[in-house]
This record gives sequence, structure tokens and C-alpha cells, in this order.
Amino acid sequence: MACRIVLLGGPGAGKGTQARRVSKKYGLPHISTGDIFRAHSENGTEIGKKIEDYVNNGQLVPDSLVCEIVADRLAKDDCKGGYILDGFPRSFPQAEELDRLLSERGESLDVAIDLVVSDDEMVARLSARRTCHECGKIYNLNSNPPKQEGICDEPGCNGAELTHREDDREETIRKRLKIYHATTEPVVAFYERKGLRQSIDGENQSPDDIASKIEELVSVSGVS
Ligand code: AMP
Repeated sequence: MACRIVLLGGPGAGKGTQARRVSKKYGLPHISTGDIFRAHSENGTEIGKKIEDYVNNGQLVPDSLVCEIVADRLAKDDCKGGYILDGFPRSFPQAEELDRLLSERGESLDVAIDLVVSDDEMVARLSARRTCHECGKIYNLNSNPPKQEGICDEPGCNGAELTHREDDREETIRKRLKIYHATTEPVVAFYERKGLRQSIDGENQSPDDIASKIEELVSVSGVS
């Protein structure tokens, strides 16, 4: 049975970390629009050139472009058994477009998991966040540092360097939070009205405990 999950939450709420775990455990594709955009930027594609300024300045990429990219991705064969969306939808029009895409195919979402974290905690996490360029593993210099400074310790990464995202700088973080409250929070309300929102405290429990709660929700949705 397919399982279609949306992971909601502000920047630094732990969406990427948790989505990676769900993806590994259930073999569902992890679709992160942020990762897709960063890959375009790194590869210098036309899309990469169009979106670079938005991403680096912490602004949202225009809905039409994001929706086009997501529609293409969801049409791929590996999405037939479901997926976990991380960072999409991030605005009301995007949520409506996802609904439209799903109903066009006679599909529906199973759950929208909302990781709830305070603004102060999100700022602290993003300032200390480092990401592996190779495997995408996310570290926190305070709570989950790499064994060796600046180097990923995942087997198979061969000492890949960790990077500090351009948009994880204090001024840009504040901007992203403002946008989250103004533009993305209405998406949370959208799924609440549909009876799909399940919130999880993303701050006062360990990543393992959060992962267990997510697994409970996912298994209720039919994947095991
Ligand atoms: P993330 O890795 O999810 O924090 O996304 C990084 C950046 O990519 C965001 O700050 C936006 O500039 C852009 N982005 C990612 N997803 C979306 C989206 N659904 N809508 C608009 N912009 C997005």
C-alpha cells in the first residue's frame, strides 16, 4: 500500500533528519525541494541560475517553478509506492496544487506530520547546523557533532567535508522564520482542516523519540 507523507515544520525543525530516517526505514523516496534546488545550483543548471538568489537570501522560490519541479518528480516511477515530501508545500497555493495533482491521479495524502519547534530553538539549531556535501547527513555542532571537526563520519563518505549552508546565517535565518510564520503556517492550518495534520513536539524529546512517534503515525497509515 502506498504511503504519501508531508513533513511540515519551520526551518531547523528537524524535517531533513527525520525524512532521511523514514526514507531509509520504509524505502520511500525522500523528496526535499531544498535539496533539489541546491543540486541545481551546484550543477549550474538554468533552474539553478533562476533560483540561486531566492535560496541564498532565504526567500521562497516562486510557486509556479516549485510546483513544476514537484509535479515532474512525483510523476517518476519510484513515487508509485508513495513518498515523503520535505519542504513542500510551503505556501497555500502549493498545498492547493499538490491536492490538484493528487486528485488528478485518484490519489490522496495519508498524513501531514508537523514538527513543532520554537523560534529560539530553530535559530540555535540552524546556526550550529552543518551538512555533509556527499550524503546529506545533518550534524549539529552542539548536540550532534561529527567525530572529527568538519568531516562527515558516515561510512562510505570517505572524509567528505561538512558545509555551513549560505542561508543558515543569522540574518537570513530570521528572514526565513518570518516567511515561515506568514506563508507556511497557513499550510499547517490547511491540513488541520482536512484532518490530516498530526503534530509532534520536535523540541523537548530526542530525535530517536521523534522518529518512533513518526513511525507510529506511518504504520497507522498502512506501511510496515
Ligand atoms: P530547505 O532546504 O527546505 O530549508 O529549503 C532551502 C530553500 O529552498 C528555501 O529557503 C527556499 O529558498 C527554497 N525552497 C525549498 N522548498 C521550497 C518551496 N516549497 N517553495 C519555495 N521555496 C522553496
